[in-house]
Amino acid sequence: MNDDQLLRYSRQIMLPGLDVAGQEKLLAANVLIIGAGGLGCPAAMYLASAGIGQITIADDDVVDLSNLQRQIAHHTSSLGLSKAASLKETLLQLNPEITVTAVAQRLQDETLSAEINKTDVVVDCSDNLGTRLEINQYCRQHKVPLVSGAAIRMEAQLSVFDHRLPESPCYQCLYDEDSKLSLSCSESGVIAPLVGIIGSMQALEVIKLVCGIGESVCGRLLLLDAATMQWQEIRLEKNQQCSLCS
Ligand SMILES: [Zn+2]
Repeated sequence: MNDDQLLRYSRQIMLPGLDVAGQEKLLAANVLIIGAGGLGCPAAMYLASAGIGQITIADDDVVDLSNLQRQIAHHTSSLGLSKAASLKETLLQLNPEITVTAVAQRLQDETLSAEINKTDVVVDCSDNLGTRLEINQYCRQHKVPLVSGAAIRMEAQLSVFDHRLPESPCYQCLYDEDSKLSLSCSESGVIAPLVGIIGSMQALEVIKLVCGIGESVCGRLLLLDAATMQWQEIRLEKNQQCSLCS
């Protein structure tokens, strides 16, 4: 690291356990963020500012006026632009030293598998069950840790599925194709700061996984009721009926 980098990341480097070695790991890390919406914006902004060296953002959508209430990396001047490109521009303004790749398409099948295979951590900021299950499947296949977040109305959840560990549950242990999870923010609404809370927590879990510090929420599901600001924690174990991991 040069002097500017030592200064830029100094408040992180001074953390015991993270140190210069942890910052070097962040700079060498390759993180894939799927979805450049409410969760993806804050997650990506914190990962970029914290110095994740290579960030890939995948999203096939364009910025719409109804997104701006909560998707804080997109600006009024970004209306009509690709969300992946708009988020990339914001990240490079925050930290021009990192490499950001914008993929303005919906990754699926081989393209999704190939992207996941070359990444260190996947951040699931998508908004539908089919995509979530497919991401989980390829993360399991390639043994890549998955940081999963979701928010709708005044409720949210967070977990990590560390597919490097054989004992880790997977997303499909929790939800399968038959789960009634078809709700989306466009149909049900979501309170703006809630996606900021969860997206920021996703970024924090990524940093912990990359640096190997602390303890991830793998094996635990955190549920937030924002209306009462109450957290609930559920122990997650492998579902013996899960067709993917058991
Ligand atoms: Zn499973």
